[in-house]
Amino acid sequence: RTVYVNGDYVAEQDAKVSVFDRGFLLADGVYEVSSVLDGKLIDFSGHMQRLKRSAGALELALPWDDEALLTIHRELIRRNALEEGMVYLQLTRGSAGDREFHYPGADTPPTLVLFTQAKALIAGRSGNDGIRIATQPDWRWARRDIKTVQLLYPAMAKMAAKAAGADDAWLVENGVVTEGASNNAWILTQDGVLVTRELSHAILPGITRAVVLELAEALSLRVEVRAFSVEEAQNARECFVTSASSFVTPVVAIDDIAVADGRPGQVTRQLRDAYIEESRRRAI
Ligand code: PMP
Repeated sequence: RTVYVNGDYVAEQDAKVSVFDRGFLLADGVYEVSSVLDGKLIDFSGHMQRLKRSAGALELALPWDDEALLTIHRELIRRNALEEGMVYLQLTRGSAGDREFHYPGADTPPTLVLFTQAKALIAGRSGNDGIRIATQPDWRWARRDIKTVQLLYPAMAKMAAKAAGADDAWLVENGVVTEGASNNAWILTQDGVLVTRELSHAILPGITRAVVLELAEALSLRVEVRAFSVEEAQNARECFVTSASSFVTPVVAIDDIAVADGRPGQVTRQLRDAYIEESRRRAI
């Protein structure tokens, strides 16, 4: 694979980042994941807008504009002949040399790394058959709206879910679901109302979530933006998650309780199809 590191396209085994990089030592960095279908980028401008927001919240310099970032994404897709999968982008604060808590001077160059990852996004088993969820306490920090690279707790929650026989974790705080360990959580109530949590510091503002909210409106679905409990989700007509790499993925069980008949719901399928169709249309 060819990867990108600070201006250079290099073979992955030749890529180098300093051991003093603050991304490595302190998780002082942010990231984005954009999906690729038919060799084209999905929701690219949304992801770059959120990258700027995350970087801004951490006073992290981003000396590349959208056009430069698009060129790098496209060049990696081309060099790796990527048809379907993701482009991962990571921006860290670099380092002034030593391990130090305070940020280095603004003249310290940040580290920008991008690489591609091939994956069957459309035909993958999870997206079509659905996934089983295990709930875990939400023990992440209090600024989950910033997309930082500190993903140890989400990794722990996914390992705990796997040990419980599930495919993924939903995180729970104060009796309500915040979001999935790497996606936003949704339910369709027995009354046919689509529910997902309101934006705040508690969750990541999902780019896929925003597009699915638009599609729900276009399909004249009733929508409520509010939190829901695990019990409400277990008793819902349908449940699903959204993220760049999973699109809209049905949830068929939560803590070993089947959602409805334990099969992907009809509205979930409709939204998945609509999201894929719209994404293909808008891809760049
Ligand atoms: N929440 C969390 C915690 C995530 O890690 C992700 C995926 N990066 C999402 C939500 C979904 O965001 P997006 O639709 O932009 O991929």
